[in-house]
Amino acid sequence: NEQIVLASRPEGMPNEENFRYETVETNRPDEGQVLLKTLYLSVDPYMRGRMSDAKSYVAPFQIDEPLNGTVVAEVIESRSEQLEVGDKVTGFLEWKKFNVADGHTVRKIDDKIAPISAYLSVLGLTGLTAYFGLYDIGEPKEGETVVVSGAAGAVGTIAGQLAKLKGCRVVGIAGSDDKIDYIVNELGFDAGLNYKKSDNLQKELEEACPNGVDVYFDNVGGEISDAVMNLLNTHARIPLCGAISSYNRTDGDLGPRVQTKLIKTRAKIQGFVLNDYQDRFQEGTEFLAQYVQNDQLKYEETIVEGFESVTDAFFGLFQGTNLGKQLVKVADP
Ligand code: NDP
Repeated sequence: NEQIVLASRPEGMPNEENFRYETVETNRPDEGQVLLKTLYLSVDPYMRGRMSDAKSYVAPFQIDEPLNGTVVAEVIESRSEQLEVGDKVTGFLEWKKFNVADGHTVRKIDDKIAPISAYLSVLGLTGLTAYFGLYDIGEPKEGETVVVSGAAGAVGTIAGQLAKLKGCRVVGIAGSDDKIDYIVNELGFDAGLNYKKSDNLQKELEEACPNGVDVYFDNVGGEISDAVMNLLNTHARIPLCGAISSYNRTDGDLGPRVQTKLIKTRAKIQGFVLNDYQDRFQEGTEFLAQYVQNDQLKYEETIVEGFESVTDAFFGLFQGTNLGKQLVKVADP
């Protein structure tokens, strides 16, 4: 068996030295447990936070211990009554080629609804994050303008399309022309802005949002958010989903710098954590699955192959190498 452990806590941008690939023995399943072969593994920006030992809503990774995250796996040995050999499941598992898990801690998935990788993207945590963050906190209404940052990523692509489904004008901000082309021409966003190329994002945003901004779905924080916040309408809503522009900074959080803007506009800004919606995952997954099956919700996955690619795939999130959800394919079923 192979695993990836945290060798040291990153300072600033993580690099190869913070991780170690190791060969270890494969455990055998006890009564009630299953042996799982990892098929797809998800790398996610929030994992950066768990690599630090700062207090947060999820426990930090431990030095010399395997990292973990959401995985799609195949049951290859079962001592659980709930699961059979050949079943595909998803769950929180360690970054290993093979995991032993209690049968009740993983969830069987249905590859007739969507390909199994989709349970780590549109039907997984990132799709659900877009669904609850946009609909519960953003509350977009027909005709309103919704701006999404990190718009070509896993959460952003879904959040923007969910806003389109409500009849909103949707403007996405992302880091390459190809990404802008994708969100506008494939996903139907009304406009897209490449923040890496722009020398005046504020002005471009004003042009793209002639009626101001009613909902800002924020995945990135920092200067991009400062520009959007200047355009908030009265009673705007801002679901604070992520702040990736701050995750690798050693000199503290970049903001959003918004106090007077919020007072003047009576806007509502609210951070949220997907874990808090666990009792509604079923509802969210069913909603997303229905729109995926009707072809009204598209999703993209950037899939790299091989267990040895996991750390590079993770680093790529901070360089923007992914379009849609970044996944690693570890093995064929
Ligand atoms: P993405 O698929 O969006 O991947 C990360 C993207 O962030 C990159 O592709 C890159 O795109 C962009 N990015 C990287 N660095 C910067 C930067 N300095 N400034 C602006 N953009 C940057 O990841 P996810 O969809 O999985 O996550 C999106 C956000 O949502 C993250 O902040 C994440 O932490 C958060 N999140 C929050 C959850 C919650 O429960 N609150 C749950 C899941 C995710 P580009 O080329 O456009 O720069």
